[in-house]
Amino acid sequence: MKRVVIVGAGLAGFTVARRLRELDYQGAISLFGNEAVAPYDRPPLSKDILKGEKTADDVRLQDRAFYEERDIQLHVSAQVTRIRPEDRTVEIGPEELGYDALILATGATIRPLPDQMTRDLGGIYGLRDLSDAQALEHAFRAARRVLVIGGGYIGLEVAAAARSRGLEVTVLEAAPRILGRVAAAPTADIIRALHRHEGVDIHENTRIVAFTGDGHVTGATLSDGTRLATDCVVVGIGVSPNTGLAESAGLEIDDGIVVDDICQTSRPGIWAAGDCARFPSPHGPMRLESVGNAIAMGECVAENIMGAGRPFEVTPWFWSDQFDAKLQIVGLNQGHTRIVARDGAKDGAISYWYYRDDALISVDVINEPKTYMVAKRLIEAGKSPDPDDIADTSQNIKAFLKS
Ligand code: FAD
Ligand code: NAP
Repeated sequence: MKRVVIVGAGLAGFTVARRLRELDYQGAISLFGNEAVAPYDRPPLSKDILKGEKTADDVRLQDRAFYEERDIQLHVSAQVTRIRPEDRTVEIGPEELGYDALILATGATIRPLPDQMTRDLGGIYGLRDLSDAQALEHAFRAARRVLVIGGGYIGLEVAAAARSRGLEVTVLEAAPRILGRVAAAPTADIIRALHRHEGVDIHENTRIVAFTGDGHVTGATLSDGTRLATDCVVVGIGVSPNTGLAESAGLEIDDGIVVDDICQTSRPGIWAAGDCARFPSPHGPMRLESVGNAIAMGECVAENIMGAGRPFEVTPWFWSDQFDAKLQIVGLNQGHTRIVARDGAKDGAISYWYYRDDALISVDVINEPKTYMVAKRLIEAGKSPDPDDIADTSQNIKAFLKS
């Protein structure tokens, strides 16, 4: 294979390139990213960068020498504009380049509020990339009141960062509760209580109806009739996978670029990885938006390009840092029939163990990384300790690994 072309220089695209070289792939690697900077880590954008504790230099995945030493041709500010699968070529504006294998690692784009609602008002932000984070961090310096729309990870992490800078923060969640898409109710209850304790005003079951302001947002009307003054609005209401390029090339799309069990798309020689890819799993076709998935899928694609024929299997894992709380989740809790709480050794530490009948399917851990490591190993090994033993804190958690 002479040339691998990777579209999207995020974590998944970067991982494919890194892993190919680790596997001693000898051909050319061209990695195209439409952002102006080399691949970086997104998690600190809503955490340390917003708190003003890290800069762009701190979040870069690797320095220039890494790409040079491995002969990875990294092109930044380079938008791949078209794929022509019939002649195995991509177009980057007026330029074209042939490939033997093509990887789509195009990520996702933030879901916007309707245009008629935002009316081009200044002071309304989204958060997906480094430039968004830098703009928002700058806005926080001048703001006093922040309104966050969406109580998912983005919304709550932004709220925690803004509050820890001393800003007045309100969060709106349209659904009946925060974290509805990503964590179960007992975990959401703890996170809600934490935010309220820290002074964040959380409104659930509440939508934004309208903004006020002339040129720049100054206030908002909520669906419960409340009117708020604000200097800055952050919209974190989810993302959609970037599928446009793949769709125009005739690839199968279904809320993501559809791939088979080894991460190949519906066209031979084209693979997909990360937030943009929908893969088969024992729970049905799914897309995962997480660091763990971007790395695992990127590695699997590289191995399969090298002929491994390895089916993609992933144990989903997530984490979120808010104020001084660390939330870690392993597995997917959908379809659970029972939740078992296990108190942690220290104040503020607790874990929730989700069972579907007798099978352990997911664990949420707050402030106890050691418990999380055990839970992750249990889920990966398909082990299901007796729920009564889990609830009994006199039992050493590590012993469950041996049983
Ligand atoms: P992306 O990182 O989105 O990279 C895709 C890249 O491709 C982008 O740079 C995009 O601009 C580029 N691109 C798209 N189309 C083209 C094209 N045609 N030509 C060239 N380039 C193109 N996950 C966790 O597990 N834990 C966390 O704590 C966490 N925190 C997060 C915080 C923030 C603020 C955000 C935004 C995400 C966070 N995530 C977290 C999610 C995680 O970062 C993503 O799941 C992960 O980055 C996905 O990687 P990816 O490579 O698939 O996509
Ligand atoms: P998300 O998890 O989909 O959460 C968005 C939340 O906003 C949902 O609860 C959604 O409710 C709600 N919402 C939708 N429309 C709304 C409206 N008009 N008003 C008020 N609330 C509304 O997505 P996100 O938090 O925006 O995160 C975006 C991406 O970044 C995801 O890929 C996420 O995984 C990633 N991220 C991850 C982390 C982490 O893992 N720690 C941190 C930051 C970001 P409905 O579900 O009812 O629509």
